Amino acid sequence: MGGLVTVLKEIEKMKRLLAVIKTEDIFLKYRDTPIGYLFEYHNLNRPFETYSKAQLLIGMCMDNRKHLQIPDNFSYIIRAGGGNLRYSEFKVSYAIGVGGVKCIALIGHTQCGMVNLIERRELFIQGLVDNAGWQREAAEEHFMQFAPMFEIGNEIDFVLSEAKRLRLRYPKIQIAPLLYRVEDNLLYLIQEN
Ligand SMILES: [Zn+2]
Repeated sequence: MGGLVTVLKEIEKMKRLLAVIKTEDIFLKYRDTPIGYLFEYHNLNRPFETYSKAQLLIGMCMDNRKHLQIPDNFSYIIRAGGGNLRYSEFKVSYAIGVGGVKCIALIGHTQCGMVNLIERRELFIQGLVDNAGWQREAAEEHFMQFAPMFEIGNEIDFVLSEAKRLRLRYPKIQIAPLLYRVEDNLLYLIQEN
């Protein structure tokens, strides 16, 4: 039963994603913008151009399974659990104010450890005790203090809500909520309503 629920959830998720396997699949609003080029470089093997300054800011998870195919100097990248930029605001402002970027790609991903973080509570605590030499009590306190800040619930809903928040915060900046599927290492557009 649990397996079936997982499969159904996966199908629901896929319905909200749009694959990009050719240039025409990219939303018109992103085509010929740094977001569009991000898709072309990563998904469509567009030959790398030379850049002297960053074209965009990418916010993505710290997860080790993801590697973007993009040219040198193409992008600022902030990596944080779940691609959560709520605690990186000064860095976002720096990329915009000083770096001059005009758009942000927010990249969530499948199988993210920040989804249902609470389920990994014991693993987290025991891991800190065994691997870092922490006292159990301190590890428990640490988890309980920070887990609610980093829990993202569902990766797609989370990037959509982050996009909404960032659009209000930086109204002139284009914000693109995207998803990276670790199953095929490709970037997907997310249907927004
Ligand atoms: Zn993640």
